[in-house]
Amino acid sequence: MSKFQDHNFKNEKALVRVDFNVPLNDKFEITDDNRMKASMPTIKKILNDGGSVILMSHFGRPKDGPTDKYSLKHLVKHLQELLGETKIVFAGDCIAEDAIQKSKELKPGEVLLLENLRFYKEEEKGDEGFAEKLSKLGDLYVNDAFGTAHRAHASTAVIAKFFPADKKMFGLLMEAEVQSAEKVLHSADKPFLAIIGGAKVSDKILIIENLLDRATDIIIGGGMAYTFFKAMGGKIGKSLCEDDRLDMANELLQKARDKNVCIHLPADSIIADKFDAAANVSGSLSNDIPEDWMALDIGEMACETFSKIIARSRIILWNGPMGVFEMQKFQHGTKTIAQAVADATQAGAFSLVGGGDSVAAVNQFHLADKVSYVSTGGGALLEYFEGKELPGIAAIDN
Ligand code: AMP
Repeated sequence: MSKFQDHNFKNEKALVRVDFNVPLNDKFEITDDNRMKASMPTIKKILNDGGSVILMSHFGRPKDGPTDKYSLKHLVKHLQELLGETKIVFAGDCIAEDAIQKSKELKPGEVLLLENLRFYKEEEKGDEGFAEKLSKLGDLYVNDAFGTAHRAHASTAVIAKFFPADKKMFGLLMEAEVQSAEKVLHSADKPFLAIIGGAKVSDKILIIENLLDRATDIIIGGGMAYTFFKAMGGKIGKSLCEDDRLDMANELLQKARDKNVCIHLPADSIIADKFDAAANVSGSLSNDIPEDWMALDIGEMACETFSKIIARSRIILWNGPMGVFEMQKFQHGTKTIAQAVADATQAGAFSLVGGGDSVAAVNQFHLADKVSYVSTGGGALLEYFEGKELPGIAAIDN
């Protein structure tokens, strides 16, 4: 593997896999351009070196081949705004003769954006022939799409085999993502705290299990905490619960005790009489919730305890909100935890926030620049911390 930063791209055509899967509104306007912005340093470094860039990405989940709604042409205008004077060419089919021709004609300092890779079903199937055709469009391959690194797709993994070791590399975003994830998982710094929240235990079992081998403390908040309370014999009213996971919750608690990992559940909760922004609210111990009520946020005692644990931690991984933070009445817990993570970072801890909803939360509370790293990868980051090998990383590393 070659190092992106050390490489001089002068007169080279770099085929860059980005994750431009940004949300659009009804008028095809981008409502959140973070994913596009995140790859700008990689693109600009190649252009500034005197190279040219061929961008490839997926966009949405088109089921039936080319569909206007999922065309990357809707992003050209915004890409132009982000890249200023740079000439941008669009190829309406990622492997057709037109794309080959446009790639050939591309001059140093210019960008070619290829149409949505997923218009070909071969992309998600990891088809070798399709990957090979894509590979012909560039002199070297740069993977900057951490968000799809857990997929063994043609453009994210398979394509790498068509480039020699010195012609394939991670882009700057991918490198930063991998470095911060590695720092969390492999740092000798302790205490290492994982804060895991969100709705479902079943989504987070593997990550909790894997972290039991490394973490000092694990805070479990959000809707998933109540499956644990019920498993321990508590009354949780109408709170979220996965009844088929009760045994597993008890097993996880036992494993944690065996491995000397402290699991912290929220002692108290904010409860509501319905799942509604205008619900009546009250406070309750988390293991004694009245029958018709549901816990939608962690309570004040939990906020205090969790904040203290966060303050004494050196490495912090946060995935998943503490409550239904989308509703104002139930955002206090998530906001408090976000602030505590920001404060701990300020005091010298390394903090990584990843996974869709905790990222949305730190953004909502304007704390994204107060933590060490905010990951762009939801599923990819989860799989990394579940201990799985990510095909997008392995394809270049090996
Ligand atoms: P996840 O995608 O699994 O990380 O879950 C995120 C979602 O969990 C958010 O939309 C939250 O509103 C929701 N959530 C967090 N806490 C609770 C709770 N106590 N009850 C119901 N939903 C919750």
